Amino acid sequence: MDVFPKARMSLQEQIDTVYDSEALPKVACITCDIEMDFGGRIGTTELLETKDHADHLIDFCSEHKTPLTGFVVTKLLDKKLPGINKFRDIELHPHSHTHKTKTYRLESAKEMARCQEEWSKHFGTSATGYRAPQGVMTDSDPDALAQNGFIFNASIFPARRRGVFDYRDLPREPWLWNSGVKEIPFAATEDRSRLTLSTLKLLGKGYWKKKIDTLPNIVVIDTHLHDFATPTAFNALPIPLRIAYSRNKQKGYVLLDWLIGELKQRGYTFDTMNTVATQHLR
Ligand SMILES: [Zn+2]
Repeated sequence: MDVFPKARMSLQEQIDTVYDSEALPKVACITCDIEMDFGGRIGTTELLETKDHADHLIDFCSEHKTPLTGFVVTKLLDKKLPGINKFRDIELHPHSHTHKTKTYRLESAKEMARCQEEWSKHFGTSATGYRAPQGVMTDSDPDALAQNGFIFNASIFPARRRGVFDYRDLPREPWLWNSGVKEIPFAATEDRSRLTLSTLKLLGKGYWKKKIDTLPNIVVIDTHLHDFATPTAFNALPIPLRIAYSRNKQKGYVLLDWLIGELKQRGYTFDTMNTVATQHLR
C-alpha cells in the first residue's frame, strides 16, 4: 500500500500524442469569450444587455464566411440577457460557470461539473468543449475534463503571461491528453507570442505581419466583446489595463478584418471548434 499519495503528473507529462501539424489542413477558428464586461473586472454586463454587440459580431463573421464559436460563462445563461439569447444562434461551449479567477484554480473540477448541469438544463444536451478562465489549467484538469464528459478543451495559450501562466513548454499544435480529451491551444507564433484580438490591438499590424507566417496549421483566435465595443464603466479598470485597452480601441473590427485577410492569403480556411475537434483531429 502506498503510504504517500502519488505525485500528480505535470501537464507536460500528461500529453499522450501531439498531432503532426504538417499533416493537418490549415484551419482557423474565430472564437469569442462571452462573459461579464472585461471578464468580470468591472462588475457589469453592459455589452450583453442589448443584442446589438452580439448581432454585429455574428453579422461580421457571416459576411466574412468565418464561422464564430462562442465560449459562454454558464451562470449568465439564467440572466435573460438579450446578447446571450442572440449568441444561442452560434456554436457554443462553456467558459467556466463563474469565471471567478481568484478561486477557479481550487474549484476547476466543480466548475466543469456545474457547466454540464447548466448545459443540460438550458440546451438539453451535454457540452462537448470547454474553456477555462484566463487560460488557467491545473495538473488535475485533463482528468477532470474527461470525467465531466468533455471531448475537447481550448484553454491553453502555449506562451507566457507574466504572473498568470507560463506554458511555453507545451506544444503549439493540438494534442491528446492521456485522459483522452483533445487540447486545441490558442494561436501562438514560433517565438511564443500570443496572437489574440487583444494582443493584435495592443501591438499593431506591424508587429504581427511577419509573425503570422510562423503560426501552426490549426489557429484558434480569441476575441471578447470588449475588443469591439467599450463598456461605459471602462474607467473602473485598473490603470495598466486601461492603457493597454486604449491602444487601437475603436479598431477591433478593422484589425480582425485585416487578420482574416492575412490568414486567407496564407491558405487558411475557417471552421468552428467542433468541426476541428471531430473532423480535422481524428
Ligand atoms: Zn474569460
